[in-house]
Amino acid sequence: MPTVPAAARRHAVTPTRRRRRTPVTAPQHLTTIDLTRFDLILVDSSAGKDSQATLDVVANAAAAAGVLDRVTVLHCDLGHVEWPGVIELATAQAAHYGVPIAVRRHHAGLLNLIHQRGRWPSPQARYCTSATKRQPARRYMTERVAALNLGRPAWILNCLGMRAEESTARAKKRAFAFDPSASNITRRKVWTWLPVHAWTEHQVWTRIHASRAPYHPAYDLGMRRLSCTLCPLAARADLVRACQLRPDAAHEYLDLEDAIGHDFRPGLALRDVYAEAVATAGPHDPITTGIALDFRPRLPLRSLNAEAVTTSTALDLAGSWSR
Ligand code: SF4
Repeated sequence: MPTVPAAARRHAVTPTRRRRRTPVTAPQHLTTIDLTRFDLILVDSSAGKDSQATLDVVANAAAAAGVLDRVTVLHCDLGHVEWPGVIELATAQAAHYGVPIAVRRHHAGLLNLIHQRGRWPSPQARYCTSATKRQPARRYMTERVAALNLGRPAWILNCLGMRAEESTARAKKRAFAFDPSASNITRRKVWTWLPVHAWTEHQVWTRIHASRAPYHPAYDLGMRRLSCTLCPLAARADLVRACQLRPDAAHEYLDLEDAIGHDFRPGLALRDVYAEAVATAGPHDPITTGIALDFRPRLPLRSLNAEAVTTSTALDLAGSWSR
């Protein structure tokens, strides 16, 4: 079966041709991917449910292929805007599968970035993921490729937890594709794999429960998504619930909404979401009690093996944009 996309062939360079590597099978079914072709298998993980199911698929497939040692979880940390306990959870999930984790953080922090831009992220201007996830991930690839020092372009499989039913834009993505923008002539060839692209939310949760790996407690408290606590792209119901569970974070976003003078998203002001959260909160919700919840993962964990948090850039800039 032919297999490497045209874009990849255009990027093919002398070292690759000289070695005459067998093309990677272009799979639509995850079981057909030959993982042994890749020098490095990255799982980009937010520690959310889709990332977690992706890690389960990739780790099991890599173990079956005898290349689990090529798998690394990469968590691009968004700082305190993320749900508490996410780094610990991502680390615990990696440990569950016996693979290392690397954590990287954008130097400025997401709220500072939004304040600098003066606009909230939107589906048309999703600069948040580009700055805080894609760029750190590519820098990490550069680090790893340099460490591998193969003398030829490294082949990297970048695995992401995107699902088609999340949005029209994601539905249009291919489950497996060469990524020319992450690749370059001499150092690396990158393919993107979305193992759970065609999965339903029910399938994701079935897989997670079967794995017995820890997942984030926010899901059991009514959240349907993780990553940033408050995301302009999230459904209103999730925003209301997030305000009820993390009023501390909500207040920072409310201040930022005032500071930049734009509603959280067109037609939806966060102050209205917050008012709804107050009006519909339960007696035990933090927005009612004023007591923060403990969001650390609670399942028994194996030993943790976090590689490192980049403390040089891991600055806690909570609220510093406005003060
Ligand atoms: S969760 Fe939303 S705001 Fe946060 S990085 Fe992702 S798209 Fe941007």
